[in-house]
Amino acid sequence: MSVAKPDIREISIEALEEFFIQHNAPKFRAIQVQEWLWKHRKINFNEMSNLSKADRNLLSEHFTINSLKILKKEISVDGTIKFLFFVDENRFIEGVIIPQLNRLTACISSQVGCSLSCTFCATGKLKLYKNLTSGEIYDQVFLLNDYALKHFNKPISNIVYMGMGEPFLNIKNVLKSIDLITSPNGLGMSGKRITVSTVGITKIIKKIADINPNFNLAISLHSANDIKRSEIMEINKTNNLIQLAEALLYFYKKTKIKPTYEYVLLGGINDSIDDAKALVDFCKKIPSKVNLIEYNKIKDGLYEKSSTEATNLFIRFLEKHNILVKLRRSRGEDIAAACGQLAIQNK
Ligand code: SF4
Repeated sequence: MSVAKPDIREISIEALEEFFIQHNAPKFRAIQVQEWLWKHRKINFNEMSNLSKADRNLLSEHFTINSLKILKKEISVDGTIKFLFFVDENRFIEGVIIPQLNRLTACISSQVGCSLSCTFCATGKLKLYKNLTSGEIYDQVFLLNDYALKHFNKPISNIVYMGMGEPFLNIKNVLKSIDLITSPNGLGMSGKRITVSTVGITKIIKKIADINPNFNLAISLHSANDIKRSEIMEINKTNNLIQLAEALLYFYKKTKIKPTYEYVLLGGINDSIDDAKALVDFCKKIPSKVNLIEYNKIKDGLYEKSSTEATNLFIRFLEKHNILVKLRRSRGEDIAAACGQLAIQNK
């Protein structure tokens, strides 16, 4: 039985150096290979033109290069573009480019499916199929950036880990992907333009605080009332608002990074003045800001969009209490590319 070759993109530079030494080749080959893999994203050893034919053959004998492919794209009336990526047989993920006045944001996935089941989210209706590797996460950014350069004549300006999956449940690969995206040997993008969004797994928020993160943190909050939040988000039953506030305070004290609270307005569920009051109280615990998100209808969804009147009253209440708040209008809703709508059906 033939044994599957390891993916070279999952091999550390040290292990690659060791590999070349063992095969009587200079260890600096490892750096050359890493540059081809990440900076130029070559997915064929034969294209690594500064390696000898013998070295290229050696690599293809021992390793494979796993990578994502764009299978299809859909363009919304508002210019948002949704991409379907092929991961491996029968596994797909989605990523989105959101063009705005001064920015070009890439929204990327961290898992195929999701193990959590937030009730407003289409991905939550899928099960978790697998964690994406750091290379697969990186590929999304590289390919979306490549598309942006060709079609918008400018690179992606911002990256949000808000696509399919919960990034903190794949934290090792997410952190490694951020290292690759920010490394001069990768895409060389600034960590200040990267935001990782989590439902609020408190243990990992503290862990991240201790490693001095080079990215922004967004929390999917959606309610500042424990009973309601537990109804909307299962995770709140084990990571409640008191624990979340305590973890975020720890995070803020260590990093001085202000978290952003994502709050999807669900009509009649979390958009009353009482809900706004609870949100103000929560916001006062840690320097922070709020992104209100318009709810996007999903197939068999339980919720409705908050009315314009309720939304305006909610915003005014937050502003009156000096909370920094922005309303994020729905983007790409017609192609199911908006927040909470990403869900692969059979393609
Ligand atoms: S909101 Fe995020 S964590 Fe919750 S189900 Fe959707 S993808 Fe998973």
